[in-house]
Amino acid sequence: MANSAPKVAEAERFETDRAISLKAKDIANLIKHSKHFIVFTGAGVSTSAGIPDFRGPDGVWTLRKQKRDAPSKATSTLQAIPTPTHMALVKLQNRGLLKYLVSQNCDGLHRKSGIAPEMISELHGNSNREYCRDCGKEYIRDFRAVAPYTKTVTDHRTGRKCSMPGCNGVLLDTIINFGECLFEQPLKLAREHGKKADFCLVLGSSLTVPPACTIPEIAGKSKRGKLGICNLQSTPLDHLVDGESMRVFARTDDLMIAVMGHLCLEIPQFVLRRQLTVKVVMGERDRNQVILQGVDVDGTPSTFLKSVRLEGSRRPAVTEPFTLSFRMDGQEELRLKLELEFMGNYLEPNVEIVHSTQCSERLYLLEYSPYTREWQVVAKDYCELSEVPTFLDFTEIGANGP
Ligand SMILES: [Zn+2]
Repeated sequence: MANSAPKVAEAERFETDRAISLKAKDIANLIKHSKHFIVFTGAGVSTSAGIPDFRGPDGVWTLRKQKRDAPSKATSTLQAIPTPTHMALVKLQNRGLLKYLVSQNCDGLHRKSGIAPEMISELHGNSNREYCRDCGKEYIRDFRAVAPYTKTVTDHRTGRKCSMPGCNGVLLDTIINFGECLFEQPLKLAREHGKKADFCLVLGSSLTVPPACTIPEIAGKSKRGKLGICNLQSTPLDHLVDGESMRVFARTDDLMIAVMGHLCLEIPQFVLRRQLTVKVVMGERDRNQVILQGVDVDGTPSTFLKSVRLEGSRRPAVTEPFTLSFRMDGQEELRLKLELEFMGNYLEPNVEIVHSTQCSERLYLLEYSPYTREWQVVAKDYCELSEVPTFLDFTEIGANGP
């Protein structure tokens, strides 16, 4: 992937605010009237979050060709806050306007911002996602789940094991390294949506990395598909865009803020959303347990807690699933006070949830604003996990819902 970077990067071009606004109006109109609008994103959508791109003047590959180091002020992808572009795409998804998202980024910011798992193909993987070689079970982590590659770059073992009952399989990262094939399923889905798209908008990609870049090409070459590209440098697909107004030289945030303005849609502020299942298991001779497990919106196990402490209990639980013992001592109901400690990538303070022993299983939705540094805990009014809300129900909760 790196080798296609020129030693001296092409200069970035910035159009005027007025030009961007005019083009944004045309793009907003197309979004509104298209039946199958898809977006293709590259590193350019994450640069304003502090994550460097690859082929810009300060890009990782450009600097490497010049034998210079990557910028030291780069933000860790775990601490990066999704950009206005990320959040605009979440809003377009929740409004039903965005039908699919294809991304080359491994920073995991699209998923974290609120894009549903079934709405995205992360073509080059996700540095927060690993999966079991044997049973395929996926795990989302609030830490870098990438192999050390100490022996070879094709050794994707992260060093952890699958925790599915009876499996214990080796966990592998999802990152695509140089010369490796892309995962079949996300690529297949991306191609299908590329064919179906009547409008494909490229945001922040130089479109030089195959086979990913063939997705917008499919849309651009199809008869009814229209192609728009927003990137600061020229791309090999510029000749396929539909009219001058569909080729924008701007930061993706500047374009998307203008587009959302024309659509009269507010860009939501980023909220970190976590889901936690709490289960009570009554044992013999008053040996009872409360078990906590983080889950993603689709039920995928999600690691975001460091420890859980039960009030009155001597030691906190520090491994997943977090399991703590308690006694009822003849009482009919106990209200278990559970203190949650997070990984802290967004400086999340601890939060306490109170769980009644009369509720055998419950899903808690935890929302954290990195701006106010406050948690909001929403326990749904049900006790059975079969009533887990759908993804869209989940995103409607809280002040920043659509
Ligand atoms: Zn497994």
